[in-house]
Amino acid sequence: MSHFTKQIHSAKTIAITGHIHPDGDCIGSCLGLRQYILDHDPNKQVDVYLESVPAEFLFLKGAENIFLEPQDKEYDLFFVLDCSSVDRFVPFADMVDKAKILFCIDHHISNQGLGDFCLVDPQASATCEVLCQIFDMNEISLSCAECLYTGIVHDTGVFKHSNTTKATMTYAGNLLEKGVNCSKIIDETFYQKTFVQNLALGKALLNSSLEVDGQIIVSFLTQENLTEISASSADLNGIIDQLRITKGVETAVFLYPMTPESYKVSMRSNTKVNVSSIAQEFQGGGHIRAAGCTMHGTIEDIKQQIISRIQQQL
Ligand code: 5GP
Ligand code: MN
Repeated sequence: MSHFTKQIHSAKTIAITGHIHPDGDCIGSCLGLRQYILDHDPNKQVDVYLESVPAEFLFLKGAENIFLEPQDKEYDLFFVLDCSSVDRFVPFADMVDKAKILFCIDHHISNQGLGDFCLVDPQASATCEVLCQIFDMNEISLSCAECLYTGIVHDTGVFKHSNTTKATMTYAGNLLEKGVNCSKIIDETFYQKTFVQNLALGKALLNSSLEVDGQIIVSFLTQENLTEISASSADLNGIIDQLRITKGVETAVFLYPMTPESYKVSMRSNTKVNVSSIAQEFQGGGHIRAAGCTMHGTIEDIKQQIISRIQQQL
C-alpha cells in the first residue's frame, strides 16, 4: 500500500488546503482529492480550506463547502496541494501546524520537500496531473474528473504551455472518457472574462512597454488603476498570458499592488529565461517558464531590478 493510501486509511479527519490567491489547478486539485477520498469512503470527514474561490469554479463539486476562514480544529491528516513553501498557505499555516501529519503534493520545481510526506513531480504540468498519477483511473468519478481536468486546463493554458506532455494529454483523455464536458470547462472557466476583467486587461496593455530591444515586455496596474474600474487582484488572471504572446517577446513581467508598499510580480518566459530562479532570488518561486514573487519598492525600482536579472540571462 502506498504512503498516500495508508495515510488516508488511518486518518479519521482530513483537511486539504492550497496556495493563496487560488487558481484553477489549486482549486481543482483540492476538490478533486476531496472527491476521490469521499467516493471511496463517504463517511470520512474531508474539509477543504482556501482563501477564496472565484465564481467560475463554483460549479465544481464541493466548492460550496469550502471553508474560507481557519477553524480551531486539529486534523489527523492535512494535505497541502500546489504549494512549494509555507508562506504560500499563510492563512491556514497554524491549522496545518497542529495537524498530526502534513502530506504535500505538488509540481513546483522550487518545492524542497515540504511536510512529513512530499510528492513533487516538476515534470507534471499541474498538481492535478500528479493526482492522476496517484489515483486509480478506474475509480475516478465524473465529479472528480471535472476537478482534475479543470486544473490541467488552467496550468497548461489549455494544453499550450511547454509543460504539456504526452502524459498530460493521456491523462486528460482518460478524464474526458469519464464524461467531462471539455468545451464548457474551457470556455466558462478559462476564456470567459467579466467586463471588469476585460477593462483591467485593456488598462494593463496600455501601461505596457517593451524593453531590451523588444525582448521583454513589462506592465503594471496601480491601486488607482484598479480602483478606477472597481477591479481587485482576483480580476487579473490571464493578463500575463496576453503580454507573453506579444510578437518578439521572450519574457513578460506584470506587477500589481499587494499592499501600499509591495507588488506582486508575475513572470512568464517563452524559451530561454528561467524565471523561477529570478523569483526565488526574491523569496518567491514557481516553474522555469512561469513564476512569481512579492517585492517591496516603487514600480520603477522593481521594474529595473527584474529587467536587469532577465537581461543577464538573455
Ligand atoms: P502567477 O504568476 O500565475 O501568480 O504564478 C506563476 C507560478 O509561480 C505559479 O505556479 C505560482 O504558484 C508560482 N508563484 C507565484 N508567486 C509566488 C510566490 O510568491 N512564491 C512562490 N513560492 N511561488 C509563487
Ligand atoms: Mn499548479
